[in-house]
Amino acid sequence: MESLSNKKKVLEQKPMTLTERMYIPAILKGMSTTMGHFFKKSSTIKYPEQERVFSTNWRGMHSLKRDEHGRERCTACGLCALSCPAEAITMIAAERKNDEKHLYREEKYASVYEINMLRCIFCGLCEEACPKEAIYLDGPIVPSDYLRKDFIYGKDKLVEPPLTDK
Ligand code: SF4
Ligand code: SF4
Repeated sequence: MESLSNKKKVLEQKPMTLTERMYIPAILKGMSTTMGHFFKKSSTIKYPEQERVFSTNWRGMHSLKRDEHGRERCTACGLCALSCPAEAITMIAAERKNDEKHLYREEKYASVYEINMLRCIFCGLCEEACPKEAIYLDGPIVPSDYLRKDFIYGKDKLVEPPLTDK
């Protein structure tokens, strides 16, 4: 088939000069670039031995808070799950029993509270939506893992440890 354009593409390979054939200038140029980077401040850190200092408005892992009596603050209203743009929160509400008053503040509590850390974009909307000041993103960085299922954090990882008598 004939080309529609009259222009012909000409590729010319120029013969290498004597200095180019010796490769020494190119090697020296490459080494000077390497040496230049050698003395520059490194932009990476040796994680996990060395940890980055985060800014004060850093948002880390979520934690579900307890009140001054050690009861879970969350009353399973579901506002955090509703406000989550990533649909990362799964919550199931349950009725508190009479003998559980020391564990939960009100009649309802979250029997299941899970956050999918792979979905979460750490926007902080759940924290802002909570009327009970029960959830904060003040935890550490979410550690790496191998399986998707291990990024679904339940109450065992999210709820603050119980108060201890001093
Ligand atoms: S931080 Fe944002 S994305 Fe993550 S669980 Fe809360 S509302 Fe959802
Ligand atoms: S964490 Fe707050 S917003 Fe979410 S269900 Fe519990 S009380 Fe409601």
